[in-house]
Amino acid sequence: MAGIYIHIPFCKQKCTYCDFHFSTTFEEYRQKMIESIASELVSRQGYLESKEIRTIYFGGGTPSLLNQNELQSLLDAIYENFDVKDDIEVSLEANPDDITDENLRDWTAVGINRLSIGLQSFKTEDLEWMNRAHTVEEALTCVQKAQDAGISNLTVDLIYGLPNLSLSGWKAHIQQVIDFGVPHVSAYCLTVEENTALNSLVKNGKIVVSNEDQQSDQFKLLVSMLEENGFDQYEISNFSKAGFESKHNSNYWKGEWYLGVGPSAHSFNGVSRAWNVANNRKYLAAIEKKANYTETEVLSVENRFNEYLMTGLRTVYGVDLQKLSVISPLNVSFRTSCDVFIEKQWMTNNADILVLTKEGRLKADYIASELFIID
Ligand code: SF4
Repeated sequence: MAGIYIHIPFCKQKCTYCDFHFSTTFEEYRQKMIESIASELVSRQGYLESKEIRTIYFGGGTPSLLNQNELQSLLDAIYENFDVKDDIEVSLEANPDDITDENLRDWTAVGINRLSIGLQSFKTEDLEWMNRAHTVEEALTCVQKAQDAGISNLTVDLIYGLPNLSLSGWKAHIQQVIDFGVPHVSAYCLTVEENTALNSLVKNGKIVVSNEDQQSDQFKLLVSMLEENGFDQYEISNFSKAGFESKHNSNYWKGEWYLGVGPSAHSFNGVSRAWNVANNRKYLAAIEKKANYTETEVLSVENRFNEYLMTGLRTVYGVDLQKLSVISPLNVSFRTSCDVFIEKQWMTNNADILVLTKEGRLKADYIASELFIID
């Protein structure tokens, strides 16, 4: 079982808070990029060692900028070179301004069966300072359009911890996505990354970010409102109605293999992690010359142990102690710490699967760090 991630490194404009890899000036080499990514799919078909492909994920960047032929050519490269499962999940990240009736028809025609929509906020001021390409009107209408086009497997992204976001304002955003009737919601706290315009705005005092108490109150409200409305918090930032969990992301969290293609994409094969050069022109030149564009790190025992622990504890799937002990034997101090957390009711251990309780999820990073193997 494995997944394929395709990174489309194009965006219409640069969102203030974003530190992902993309370019806003790409038209001159757009076609070459698609051909290069397709060529990478062919050349790296051995990476997943014939594992069955269960998920394909178009991320970025803004993959909703691709036209039908571009999407089809990338999917063809996968279908022709990998063992693809019949009921595969094919996700596409889409920005609200790209969700038109024509695009929806094209996406369903090529087999996209799950959309991840970056709504982020329903306030004009927020969308403006974030420099998002879409309007509130587009945010409010795009979900219905997708549903009308027959795409029911929808997830929407929201951001909390925004400057000047009151608890009642946040409540209204959550209520809006509940009212949309979507079966999946992802919500992330605004983080100020080093090389972003937001970082400069904060440093210059033009934007004041929310404090930890506000963020924590907003997170707790999110969890309680979504749970009251039938969503399960199956990962700290991800909420789903039964059967609508993201298969692609769930596989990441369970430590399954994946191949990432396109500039800056990461891959994982159980023992090593690889990442492509995060530069469009260098990537294109390397593909053309059949030169190297990937760096690889063989993960140490400590890395593998800590990563599995960290991601597992963030999910309802938890951490399988049998699986963990295959990476490295569990020592007395690990077991003692687990007992302490179980005693505090931050964690449960059912049949050797460690799962955080609701209280424990609020302290997930701390708990994981206490259980880590330190070099
Ligand atoms: S659309 Fe997405 S990837 Fe592009 S700049 Fe905005 S947040 Fe970043």
